[in-house]
Amino acid sequence: MPEGPSLVILKEAVMPYIGKKILDARGNARINMDRLHQQKIMNILTWGKQFFICLNGVTIRIHFLMFGSYSIGEQTRPDKSLRLCLRFRSGSLYFYTCSVKLMDEDPGSLYDWEADVMNENWNAKKARKKLKAMPETMVCDALLDQQVFSGVGNIIKNEVLYRTRLHPETLIGSIPSRKLTLLITEARKYCFDFLKWKKEFVLKKNWLAHTKKICNRCNLPLIKKYCGNTKRRTFFCENCQVKYL
Ligand SMILES: [Zn+2]
Repeated sequence: MPEGPSLVILKEAVMPYIGKKILDARGNARINMDRLHQQKIMNILTWGKQFFICLNGVTIRIHFLMFGSYSIGEQTRPDKSLRLCLRFRSGSLYFYTCSVKLMDEDPGSLYDWEADVMNENWNAKKARKKLKAMPETMVCDALLDQQVFSGVGNIIKNEVLYRTRLHPETLIGSIPSRKLTLLITEARKYCFDFLKWKKEFVLKKNWLAHTKKICNRCNLPLIKKYCGNTKRRTFFCENCQVKYL
C-alpha cells in the first residue's frame, strides 16, 4: 500500500493535468462517470494515503487500499482491475484496484490537514496532544493511527521506531517526554527521507529495520512480530530499542 510520501510523488506527477479537461472517464468503479465528463481538474490534494482530484462541485477520492496502483500515459494492468481512467487531450491517468468515490463536500473542510505528516500545515504540538490522550496505546499502533500521523504506514512505522530506539510495544504514557518529542520529529523527518529516497529509487537500500534480519547497531538478530492491535509486521531489536515501563 502506498504510504503518504508515495502519494506526494503521484500528486507531483498529476499536477500538469490541473486546468485540463476530462474528455472521457471509464472503469469499473461504481460511480457516476457522467459527472466527470468535460470537467476541468481544479486542484489535486493528498491527505495521508488518500488522493483527491478536485473538479467543479465534485471531488474524486481515491484510496489505494492494500494493492492499489496507478499509471500515467499507458494502461499497465488489465481492464478488470481498472477502476478509473481519465482521458485528456494530452494523455490519460489510470487507477487500479483502489477505492474510488465521488464526494460532494469540499475536502478542505472535511479533513484535519494539520494531521498530515507531509502537509505544510503539519502541527507537531497537536500530534503531541493527541498522543497524550492515548497513554494506554502501544507506540506501534499510535504511529499507524491516521488521525495522529496521517500518511504513516507500516514501513515508516518500523523505520521510525528503529531510529528512535523505541520498542514497538512501549505504551505512549510510559515514553519519557523528550523521547516523545523525538518520536514526533523523526516521524515527519523520516517521511521526507522516504520521499527523497523513493524518488532516487534507493528507498529499500536505506531500510534499517523493515524486512531486515540483523540490527546494524548491535549485530544481533532482529525480531519479527505482529505487534499491537494493528497486528502489522514489525521488525525491531530487543537489545537497543527500549521498552519503557
Ligand atoms: Zn540493536
